[in-house]
Amino acid sequence: MSSTKYIFVTGGVTSSLGKGIIAASLAKLLQARGYSVTNQKLDPYLNVDPGTLNPYEHGECYVTEDGAETDLDLGHYERFTNAPTSQANNVTTGRIYQNVIEKERRGDFLGKTVQIIPHITDEIKRNVKLLGSKGKYDIVITEIGGTVGDIESLPYVEAVRQLKWELGSDAMVVHLTLVPFLAASGELKTKPTQHSVKSLLEIGVQPEVLVLRTEHELPQDLRKKVALFCNVEPNSVIQSIDVNTIYEVPLKMREEKLDVTVCEKLKIPLKKEPKLVEWTKFLNRFQNPKTEITVGLVGKYVELHDAYKSIVEAFVHAGAVHECKVNIKWIHSEKLKDANYKEELKNLNAILVAPGFGHRGIEGKILAVKFARENNVPFLGICLGMQISVIEFARNVLKLEEADSLEMNPQTPHPVINLMEEQKNVTEKGGTMRLGSYACTLHKTSKIADAYGETEITERHRHRYEFNSEYKEEFEKAGLKPVGFNPDTGLVEVVELKNHKWFVGVQYHPEYKSTVINPHPLFVGFIKAALEK
Ligand code: GLN
Repeated sequence: MSSTKYIFVTGGVTSSLGKGIIAASLAKLLQARGYSVTNQKLDPYLNVDPGTLNPYEHGECYVTEDGAETDLDLGHYERFTNAPTSQANNVTTGRIYQNVIEKERRGDFLGKTVQIIPHITDEIKRNVKLLGSKGKYDIVITEIGGTVGDIESLPYVEAVRQLKWELGSDAMVVHLTLVPFLAASGELKTKPTQHSVKSLLEIGVQPEVLVLRTEHELPQDLRKKVALFCNVEPNSVIQSIDVNTIYEVPLKMREEKLDVTVCEKLKIPLKKEPKLVEWTKFLNRFQNPKTEITVGLVGKYVELHDAYKSIVEAFVHAGAVHECKVNIKWIHSEKLKDANYKEELKNLNAILVAPGFGHRGIEGKILAVKFARENNVPFLGICLGMQISVIEFARNVLKLEEADSLEMNPQTPHPVINLMEEQKNVTEKGGTMRLGSYACTLHKTSKIADAYGETEITERHRHRYEFNSEYKEEFEKAGLKPVGFNPDTGLVEVVELKNHKWFVGVQYHPEYKSTVINPHPLFVGFIKAALEK
């Protein structure tokens, strides 16, 4: 293709309409037509990245191969397109301002007044075009976070206006809105959509395509009415009806010919039909399970399921491999006590102890590990979950009663989890953890090597603390065996319990790499063990 095409996805009426899923679905369809596509997210908040945000604020922090701490929508992009994203795929207002202010300090604008327009908008445009300029992608789909009309997202929409002007038919806007159903009068209402398109028009942006989120089928005359009021063609009004799973959305968008309309607007050939064979196979297995299991997910943010988004989706992908529905019992680690943990954890097919930071809920997590260890319940500990399995073993098996992580107790006499060497002089919090993809070598004879079917792997990380190798032999002798190591530093990345059905702790985050087309082998192995229980 001669030049990269840019699609902007904006949202109106309300947040949480699923812009990320629409953007990812469109990417999936265009990819299936034979285009190389990447998704980008622009977030209108002032944090430089979401790494310092509490998951209660924005859900999970998703980590890319190159170690960027990003918005959870990037997880959807990767799960749908099976293509890795990077720092360039997620840009926040904080990062935009930081770049502009650094340039100002360097003297790049010497003599000039630095302003939102053109300096901030230029920086936004530069970040959008950066992805296209590499020659790697035919199409860049950029999702603008927030809702049109927000003060925060104004500079982004202004940048979109300018880009549309500069790029002509190489750029277009897909605007997602809501058509509410008023139960009392039994009517679908288009007014909010009209208003939200009007707010876009007021700032100079005419969307080419409207995607209307709805609970009920939208009749043709309603679509025509929206088209008429919003200056779009009737076939550019696309219905996005509520579905049981986000994984149905690409198929729904294909039915609605979103991809065809987009290709027409961008004046690019349709190439091949998007068959989505593997995708449909996955969906059939996922929607017609032959068995089911219940996994206890022990964490401290369980009220907000988005805090564990990638874990939940990894269970969906791996469950489908086994034609197994994976139910999650959400277990708040702060509520697990000596008096109730056996009752709370009984009848589970498996237990997962989640990643996390800080001491809140730690004792409950330790009880969950103890239960899994003593009762032969398949166990997966991720990051902090792995560290907890080490602490539990130290306290209850090695009888080092005050064993702890230095994160929780800096005075512990037995720091079985200690601060990584390279972290010792780190004082800044943002983007300073051990982040991104690292190699790991697995022991040939281990459950984890069986699960992966290989011994040389790479996985993504996000932590400051590590297994304290001084205790390695003691643990190994007593039955908790380090079986995965960083080949360069010797850092312990995986521990396994001997004489247990399936008990694995990993310092890394396997969940980030699970996609529909490549379900993560560790989750596949974990569910297999749970099914055997
Ligand atoms: N808090 C732990 C650490 O920093 C674990 C982090 C995590 O679970 N992602 O090492």
